[in-house]
Amino acid sequence: MKKPLNPATIAAHAAGALDLQSGGVVPAFQPSTTFLRDEDYALIRPDNIYSRDNSDNLRQAEAVIRALENAQDTLLFPSGMAAIAAVFRALPNRATAIVQSGIYWGTTAWVRDFCARREIILIEVAAADLIATCAAQPANLVLIETPSNPWLLTVDIAAVKAATNGIVLVDSTAATPILTRALDHGADIVMHSATKAINGHSDVLAGVLSTLHSEAGLWQAIRTDRRMAGAILGPFEAWLLTRAMRTLPLRMERMSENALALAHYLMGHHAVADVYYPGLPHHSGHDVALRQMQGGFGSLLSVLVKGTRQDALRVTGKFNLFLRATSLGGVESLVEHRHTIEPHTGIPENLIRVSVGIEHIDDLIADWEQALG
Ligand code: PLP
Repeated sequence: MKKPLNPATIAAHAAGALDLQSGGVVPAFQPSTTFLRDEDYALIRPDNIYSRDNSDNLRQAEAVIRALENAQDTLLFPSGMAAIAAVFRALPNRATAIVQSGIYWGTTAWVRDFCARREIILIEVAAADLIATCAAQPANLVLIETPSNPWLLTVDIAAVKAATNGIVLVDSTAATPILTRALDHGADIVMHSATKAINGHSDVLAGVLSTLHSEAGLWQAIRTDRRMAGAILGPFEAWLLTRAMRTLPLRMERMSENALALAHYLMGHHAVADVYYPGLPHHSGHDVALRQMQGGFGSLLSVLVKGTRQDALRVTGKFNLFLRATSLGGVESLVEHRHTIEPHTGIPENLIRVSVGIEHIDDLIADWEQALG
């Protein structure tokens, strides 16, 4: 048997995508929405009929992610939220969903609204209580986010899977398939906002789901709904994503190195009260991260500066290099004062969320030094 390729090789070669028609070593961009039939009314390419169903560029991007996840099937959506929504929409009315609390606020807000409309029983549980709740409470679906945004809590995927009979859906956006292959740890479906590090250039909005059980009823329902309801990623975004993913393993390596070095520097700074980062030994999620993440702990961290909301906003306003903008996982470093975005969720007023990019670490540390000073 042939030895499986390593992720860096799969990514660099875009899982073998070429343009055999021109001989190009990169795949062509094909924007057509509709595809030809011959004189006998047979499709020229039986797998291409209309781009709401599929397109070559979409298949190429999905093939890269499928290979990186070691999945059986992968579906791309026009955003991370569209991917999460696709799973919930496939649940029957009056189902039960256990959802980790303190996760990305956009997910929580949408899930609450949707579950109320569909009479789905929603049980929101803190990361630390997930395993006990899953063991005690039957559920159709369990949604976990690890590491979580912006608390950076980690959840043991295998332990959750062992505790529940429900479908385990893992939002692994902060880890990417490079640092954690959630399906290998027992997830039934792994989800990413590909808008973040998978694309990594802050220029594509996309989401993705992958599974090892493509025959499962829920997965088939998701697949059918995407095709019929049209929640599909456009070919240009898919082409850009395929291009960007060639460097995903390299980017994750550099971002994780930078984030760890910055986290250590900030922990030693007199103006910093705490740093939430799963790579730091004092972090509550460090042990799970060591078991579940390989090759680094990701680009996302949260910093609690000493003082008040005003102190945090003053520091945020002083950055020269870190851009003040939402999102994460891009090559350029970003900072965000999360309390301004979600003032009602218990986020500390002195918390600055940081997405660490691929810049030189000395420049990143120097920017924090002057901002905290
Ligand atoms: N999941 C996590 C962890 C996120 O951080 C985000 C966006 O910030 C999403 C899901 C939603 O993804 P998108 O913005 O691509 O819809």
